[in-house]
Amino acid sequence: MPAANNLEKFWSWVDKSAGPDGCWPWTGRLGGGCRGERGRFMIRGKRRYAHSIACQSEHGPCPEGKECRHLCGNHICCNPRHLEWSTHKENMSDLLAHGTLSQARLAAGQVIEIRRKLDAGRTQRSVAKEYGVSQTTVSQISRHTRWTNLVFVVVPVKR
Ligand SMILES: [Zn+2]
Repeated sequence: MPAANNLEKFWSWVDKSAGPDGCWPWTGRLGGGCRGERGRFMIRGKRRYAHSIACQSEHGPCPEGKECRHLCGNHICCNPRHLEWSTHKENMSDLLAHGTLSQARLAAGQVIEIRRKLDAGRTQRSVAKEYGVSQTTVSQISRHTRWTNLVFVVVPVKR
C-alpha cells in the first residue's frame, strides 16, 4: 500500500465536488491508455493509473488477473463507488458500451445531430442541456476533438 501522505496528496488531485454519487474527475496529469486520457500518479517513483489507486484505497489490492473497471465509463473518474476490480474481458465490453474511450454516453447519431444543431446557430449551452451532457462535451464535439472515430462506434444509449 502507498504511504498515507502519498494518498493524501493523491486525493488532493481528485475533484469531489459532484458529491458522493457523482463522478470525481482526476485533475492531475494524464497519460497512458489508448489516447492518453487516463489519470497518472507517481507512487514511490512508479507511475500508476489514478483510478487504480482510488479502487485499491476502497476495495483493497488488485486480485490476480483483474484490472480496474469504470462502471460509469468516465476514464478520469476516481470515485471508488464507480470502480471495481474485474476481468480484462468485462472491461473491454464496457469500453464498447460506453463508446470506446469517450466519457459521455452519446450515440453516433446524436453527435451528428448536435453538430447540425450547432451549425444551425443553437448555442452550446442549450444543446448541452437538451442532451444532458456538459458544455465542454458539446464544445469538443463542435471542434471535432472527440468522436473522430464515429464510423466504428455503435453505442447503446441510456435515456
Ligand atoms: Zn464516475
